[in-house]
Amino acid sequence: MMIARLLSFLLAVPLLLSGPFASADDGREAKRVAITFDDLPFAGATSQARPEAVQVNKAIRGTLMRQRVPAIGFVTQKNVEALGADGELMLRAWMADGFDLGNHGATHADSNGLEVGGVRQEIVAGETTIAPLAKKFGRPVTWYRFAYNHVGNTEAKRVAIERLLAEHGYRLAASTIDTSDYIFDKAYRRAAGDPAMLRRIEQAYLDHSRAQIRYYGELNKQVLGREPPAIMLLHTNRLNAATLDRLLAIFRSEGFRFVSLDEAHADEAYRTAPAFATRFGPMWGYRWARERKVRFDGSKEQEPPAWIQAFAETGIRPPVES
Ligand SMILES: [Zn+2]
Repeated sequence: MMIARLLSFLLAVPLLLSGPFASADDGREAKRVAITFDDLPFAGATSQARPEAVQVNKAIRGTLMRQRVPAIGFVTQKNVEALGADGELMLRAWMADGFDLGNHGATHADSNGLEVGGVRQEIVAGETTIAPLAKKFGRPVTWYRFAYNHVGNTEAKRVAIERLLAEHGYRLAASTIDTSDYIFDKAYRRAAGDPAMLRRIEQAYLDHSRAQIRYYGELNKQVLGREPPAIMLLHTNRLNAATLDRLLAIFRSEGFRFVSLDEAHADEAYRTAPAFATRFGPMWGYRWARERKVRFDGSKEQEPPAWIQAFAETGIRPPVES
């Protein structure tokens, strides 16, 4: 009896030492994800959208704070200006609540259509509001994310852009999970005033998000032989304000814990940007695959449901579910 009790105690010790946050239930290290938002303060901002933008920002920050999830918001200067004085106030609140800001360019221009001088202009004018805020809060803006994740459609431009970012003191922010949330949001806006349709779109979005989280994790594992910290690409929109709680719960149930973009990027996988020029904006897993010449069948990636895309574009309602 004594020996059995002693043995069970000894066996329990390593489990106690590993602590409640050290590993998932199955003994593996928890996966990590950084949550990032683009198009701050509000995607598709207009002066008429001011009350909604304020509400969406409050909801997103509120959820992140309640759930103690770090996040970074990439700011489009054009969207700040479209919201008048509220634009700057929302960013100030974002900083005051302890979240980071990054630069997402002045006008959300597509760098594929710009010369290097035009890209420089996007970077510099993109700092109009965030640079003084960064100074005030003593937290420099160090991350840049390009509109559409277009980081050079030719190898010469890709290299020039890389140099340009370094000259201006920026690091290029990666993205590894994309859920096309803006398409679901477009449908969501059309469904305003129809609670059943709103619920249906929310559920479709969350189902698609879980599928994409798994898909991109698998892609990275196949290409790199392991899963580096994931970087989730989201937009500040009405849909995410309504569903963020549930989206974060999905990450937790998939074995993730939340880290800052800085911590995610500290992983070896992000030491250099993938040396792969493209006019498209693929997630980093595809870029790593091309860089390493790993074959991966991207056609198996799930698209948002056809009815969501059709409803978003045309407002044509799908048949009612049986
Ligand atoms: Zn954007």
